[in-house]
Amino acid sequence: MTALRRLPKLAVWKFASCDGCQLSLLDCEDELLQVGRCVELAYFPEATRAALKGPYDLSLVEGSVTTPHDAERILEVRAASKTLVTIGACATAGGIQALRNFKDVKEFVSSVYARPEYIETLAQSTPISAHVKVDFELRGCPIHKGQLIELLAAFLQARTPNIPAYSVCLECKRRGTVCIMVARGTPCLGPATHAGCGAICPAYDRGCYGCFGPMETPTTDALNRLFTSLGMDREDRLRAFRSFNGYAEAFRKESEAVEKET
Ligand code: SF4
Ligand code: SF4
Repeated sequence: MTALRRLPKLAVWKFASCDGCQLSLLDCEDELLQVGRCVELAYFPEATRAALKGPYDLSLVEGSVTTPHDAERILEVRAASKTLVTIGACATAGGIQALRNFKDVKEFVSSVYARPEYIETLAQSTPISAHVKVDFELRGCPIHKGQLIELLAAFLQARTPNIPAYSVCLECKRRGTVCIMVARGTPCLGPATHAGCGAICPAYDRGCYGCFGPMETPTTDALNRLFTSLGMDREDRLRAFRSFNGYAEAFRKESEAVEKET
């Protein structure tokens, strides 16, 4: 009798996040049954009733570290995971909640909560890579399900995921969209932003918001100068670089340069 092959155990973890990225896995409607045949959904509170104990072959981690409890829990998740992949802007760059990193979090807590003494939070929202070794980062807010399936396929085939690190501009060209920044002077973060969304916003006449974070070696300083020439004032440029991926290094540094302008 042949022994049954053990399926790799998949775990999906949530930290400070909106759940949008882990829902991308459930959103893989056409591929979901096949995924279920290739991996064992061992830990995924959003989708399963029972949880299996680790160790886990692959952990997908969504969300940023914002509490002392998170900071301890991520160490346990890492210890229980053979491969750990972070998914989404929260996990890879701290997320929109990392806007607190530029301010005094105590001020936010006291103005938002009636009883701030019950709130236990860290001064900063930090990406998972600031706490533990991360084997791969999947960008986006939310991640793209096609890239997620490629990541899972690469894991099962023990190869590097084919996730291009070029900019959104290339995706714009590929779908034949006229550049709205050149043609209409609409500010667009696309030249500095990691591909993955398929350049949706420019296709609907809106500038890119940088959901996938900085591309490899982005020239944010040149883009900042271009934004200025298009008439964007200091506040607008600050907001452009400080959004979902505002704490990602390249966008953070550019926003800090904008902040220092007199
Ligand atoms: S990256 Fe965006 S979609 Fe994903 S969990 Fe964070 S806020 Fe939600
Ligand atoms: S619209 Fe934006 S993303 Fe598209 S080519 Fe122009 S600058 Fe690049």
